[in-house]
Amino acid sequence: MIRFDDVTKVYQKGAHPALDQVSLEVDRGEFVFLVGPSGSGKSTMLSLILAQERPTSGHVHVLGKDLSTVSARRVPLMRRKIGAVFQDFRLLSDKNVYDNVALALQVIGAPRHQIKTEVPEVLKMVGLDGKERRQMTELSGGERQRVGIARAMVNRPQILLADEPTGNLDGETGLSIMRLLDRINRTGTTVVMATHDQSIVNQMRKRVVELKEGIIVRDQSRGVYGGDQ
Ligand code: ADP
Ligand code: ADP
Repeated sequence: MIRFDDVTKVYQKGAHPALDQVSLEVDRGEFVFLVGPSGSGKSTMLSLILAQERPTSGHVHVLGKDLSTVSARRVPLMRRKIGAVFQDFRLLSDKNVYDNVALALQVIGAPRHQIKTEVPEVLKMVGLDGKERRQMTELSGGERQRVGIARAMVNRPQILLADEPTGNLDGETGLSIMRLLDRINRTGTTVVMATHDQSIVNQMRKRVVELKEGIIVRDQSRGVYGGDQ
């Protein structure tokens, strides 16, 4: 589903590599936590999967395709198969819940009948039915992240990437978001989540890939946040 072959990413000539010869394989249906200190390369891995960045050397394969062979014109098509959620939600503050999610289908030219059936369905899935007309300012942090997840999932992507999705939420709210991501994973979506959230990682007991200065220093199934625990 996702494969890094000897991937190095250097943003600026002479800088320490953000990723240094990273190899990793993520199978269909897996749930993977990317952990490690700030600056260790987690977001860079997610950007490479999304083809927002290109490797300096090595190859990234996503859904069976070597991204270096995908032309710039075809990158948007590839990206539709990947959902992304962010710490800062990245929602349109002047649009309501329904429209924030519908927009993800409108921009890819989905027919109106499809939008009208799929938006309510995905809002129900994330627990926001009844809140379609709420404005972003009227929502709690947890609800905003549910909108972000609905927007990411409305295209039915095979892969969901999450960059610190609980980073702006209190512990209990973060855990409820985590349960939602777990449920999404159990219905077949491959999930890769970068996080600093020690208590969540320790509670979930999923695969943990730990980065340090751009190198994978640990890859553990049913792992915990820190090593040797
Ligand atoms: P993490 O997500 O683990 O905090 P990042 O992948 O954001 O780590 O960063 C890894 C390294 O790459 C850091 O040294 C960071 O400063 C650098 N970096 C990340 N993005 C850029 C960028 N767009 N331009 C230059 N350097 C970057
Ligand atoms: P159009 O006029 O482009 O056909 P729609 O009739 O689909 O637009 O929707 C008009 C507005 O009504 C949307 O922008 C949305 O805010 C709201 N809306 C549409 N369907 C729903 C729904 N099921 N629940 C809540 N609001 C909706």
